[in-house]
Amino acid sequence: MNPISPTQKQATPLPDTKGQGGDSVLRILSVLEDTTVDGPGFRTSIYCAGCTHHCPGCHNPQSWAPEGGHEMSVDELMQIIEADPFAPGVTFTGGDPMQQAEAFTALAQAIRQRTRKNIWCYTGYRYEALLDMPVQRRLLQLVDVLVDGPYVAAQRDTDLLFRGSANQRLIDVPRSLAQGSVVLWTRA
Ligand code: SF4
Repeated sequence: MNPISPTQKQATPLPDTKGQGGDSVLRILSVLEDTTVDGPGFRTSIYCAGCTHHCPGCHNPQSWAPEGGHEMSVDELMQIIEADPFAPGVTFTGGDPMQQAEAFTALAQAIRQRTRKNIWCYTGYRYEALLDMPVQRRLLQLVDVLVDGPYVAAQRDTDLLFRGSANQRLIDVPRSLAQGSVVLWTRA
């Protein structure tokens, strides 16, 4: 999910991901190059399939089905990402990337090892909930900025930067983990 994302106080149940390709194959709806709406600068945005949050008013309900899109390997995605050496960032969105956390962790590790690009990740989970989810926490630790929480239609605000509703936060993950509390991202 991107600017129009989800939120919820209770953690949404994780889908059964067995048989969806293990930790190096992702279920992908689309990959957009040189986008400017999913974080600062020109970015490669990876839209994944599957989301169980089902936020009322979600702009992208066609992304909810976990069997949507098609499988792509980490290597296939890295070829696209590395083909644009001047784009400073990659954004994981969907769908909810945290519901394919093992595979996105493998992709994030490849991005870290092979490029200097920053990583943004959208999710319907709250940051605090992800800290208590061991698999998702590993992905979180590789992310620079997390856009967290479900989309709440009652808090919709079209003037917000890179998000759709006021409950969602742009979180500086490295600084938040180091400090032990949420530090919001601000544009340098
Ligand atoms: S988390 Fe994002 S993709 Fe999922 S239902 Fe909510 S707004 Fe839609």
